[in-house]
Amino acid sequence: MGGEKKKQALTDIGSLGEFGLIDHLTKGIKIRHPETLKGVGDDAAVIDQGDHVSILTKDLLIEGVHFDMVYTPLKHLGYKAIAVNLSDVYAMNGEPRQVFAGLAISTRYSLEALEELYAGMLLACDKYQVDFAGGDTTTSPSGLMISITAVGKAKREEVAYRSGAKPNDLLFVSGNLGAAYCGQLVLQREKQAFKANPQVQPDISKYPYVIERQLKPEPRRDIIRMLRDAGVKPTAMIDISDGLASEILHICKQSGTGAMIYEEKIPVDQRMAQVAHEFNIDPTTCALSGGEDYELLFTISQKDYDKVKDMTAIHPIGHITEAVQGENLFTSSGQLVKLTAQGWDPLKGETGSKE
Ligand code: ADP
Ligand code: MG
Repeated sequence: MGGEKKKQALTDIGSLGEFGLIDHLTKGIKIRHPETLKGVGDDAAVIDQGDHVSILTKDLLIEGVHFDMVYTPLKHLGYKAIAVNLSDVYAMNGEPRQVFAGLAISTRYSLEALEELYAGMLLACDKYQVDFAGGDTTTSPSGLMISITAVGKAKREEVAYRSGAKPNDLLFVSGNLGAAYCGQLVLQREKQAFKANPQVQPDISKYPYVIERQLKPEPRRDIIRMLRDAGVKPTAMIDISDGLASEILHICKQSGTGAMIYEEKIPVDQRMAQVAHEFNIDPTTCALSGGEDYELLFTISQKDYDKVKDMTAIHPIGHITEAVQGENLFTSSGQLVKLTAQGWDPLKGETGSKE
């Protein structure tokens, strides 16, 4: 404050990465109340309410970082803003019940535009049967910011943490991976083409699947209900927002284990692989590092395998190992490679960077 300026070496946050930054800022946090069963460190916090637990999670979407108004319909954006939060509640094996929306809006947005945003948010609330219970509204000096908080509910013993995986547990993913990233690539390419020549209409009609996966993800309520109905509780679970590799590393770090996955088992959709090839990217790279698929990655005990083996919506991709073995990918060409997470670069600041 005022006075002479002291010279101090300041640390560039880009050097820590997103998770390093969160770890650094939150490492001194002490939990004061016994009902706070889980604070920072999972897809959502877990609060004991006596006969059940509450599950709380928050995500922030910023124009120009997470979405680009050139190609994001506001109704889709509203839907996605809710969907990605519900995904974190399902990733704890809970059922979402309420959402709150904090909006910072630039005056560039019309009432009609915001009505579209709300139509999308309310559509997601309707589909997933959650109550839109409040929020906050303010102006933004530039662009739109959407912060959603979701509240869910579960039985205490049902909650699936990232930390519960044990050696020999089987690793599963739902759906298929990499398509949301490929949708992003197509949308970015068409934006660049449009900027270069506004006469050229964007040609996205060839790629409806990957674009829908990017613009309108669906959280996997169906998967957690299917497992519950089959009497299977995942030993650990996380949703895939940052790419398969990053999420496997989270489960292993929190569980104190390693993991082995097999490239040929990673579920990829042909429509995704086709786009990846067009962009000269390996489809496996899209699945491992693409992110925003909002599928579930979970582990189950081997004893439960028979109960899930005929479920076509989930795919075994490997198993959990002892920590000393690390996290490895056995490639289709027979090589063993270490799994690494692509870093988050806050300086990149471009649409499509990870949350
Ligand atoms: P997800 O990708 O599942 O939304 P994140 O990687 O965003 O999870 O967050 C991981 C954990 O870190 C969560 O427990 C979240 O609440 C916590 N977290 C993220 N950002 C902050 C922050 N700025 N301060 C405190 N906790 C944070
Ligand atoms: Mg998550």
